Amino acid sequence: MYVYRDYPEFSWSNSRHKTFLECVRKYYHQYYESHNGWEYQAPEENKAAYRLKNIKNIPILLGDEIHKVIDQQLKNFLNGKRLFTESEMVDLVTRNLNKAYLDSTKFRQHWFQKPKRYQMLHEIYYGNGLSPDEITSAKTKLRLCVNNFFRSKTYQDVFNKLEMHVLHSEDFQTFEVNGVDVFVVLDFVYKDVSQEKWIVADWKTGKESEDDRKQLAFYALFLSQQHHIPIEDIILRNEYLLTGKNQEYKLTQFEIDAAQTLMNESIYHMLGYLENPARNKPVAIGHFEKNPSNKCQRCNFKEKCEV
Ligand code: SF4
Repeated sequence: MYVYRDYPEFSWSNSRHKTFLECVRKYYHQYYESHNGWEYQAPEENKAAYRLKNIKNIPILLGDEIHKVIDQQLKNFLNGKRLFTESEMVDLVTRNLNKAYLDSTKFRQHWFQKPKRYQMLHEIYYGNGLSPDEITSAKTKLRLCVNNFFRSKTYQDVFNKLEMHVLHSEDFQTFEVNGVDVFVVLDFVYKDVSQEKWIVADWKTGKESEDDRKQLAFYALFLSQQHHIPIEDIILRNEYLLTGKNQEYKLTQFEIDAAQTLMNESIYHMLGYLENPARNKPVAIGHFEKNPSNKCQRCNFKEKCEV
């Protein structure tokens, strides 16, 4: 049941941590000022932050839509339903991208009133629209990602393993660390019974990055704490859908402890921006300093910053 709160509940996630490191002013807009921005009587600055928070650029939207359709495909398989063909998956994502384009251009006013129900593309809100190159690149990426998904080790395992046990398909999961709710989104977790190993698969629609391994450490932490799975029985797998490659890791207890330390330190620094920690009431906006950089061009809140 929805309960009105003056301030949001405090929680931690890796994406919150990354926003906090990138720019604390952005962190303020995203995690505090946007709160209650969905309320009809909310002050305009909260409504604006809530609207802006919901903007997505094409690579983010494309990644989200590909994740959704993959998740649906896996659920269809597990529930014995008919599976999408490759071209049906491409069509489904394309339809949703086209809808986002229409929302952003023809239904801008609707989005203004209902930013959760309608979509707004960053390239249209802040730029001159989508260039032919951007459209071609999105179409190429979509086809590559879907094609590589069908050939991925994880999807092949789903089909070919005689005995597997699925723990999660894409869902928000929370666990508690030192009294703080920690959010993780696990794309797909299954047990390969023949190997007695748990596999955490993470679909990547962007390029490989050094951060990928660190992110997986939080998933391993979740599985070991919440499901009491020994670290040595967990295999973490990034499936890079643009290239068709995958990368597997087995983390050590030392790396898991390092992830936990990073999380504790991050939470400690975030709590330093609270006037009233019991209510999660932030200090005044002026304490959240702007951090102008080349990332400002892609920031959803740049109109608030005037950078
Ligand atoms: S535009 Fe730049 S300085 Fe302003 S909130 Fe975004 S990242 Fe921070």
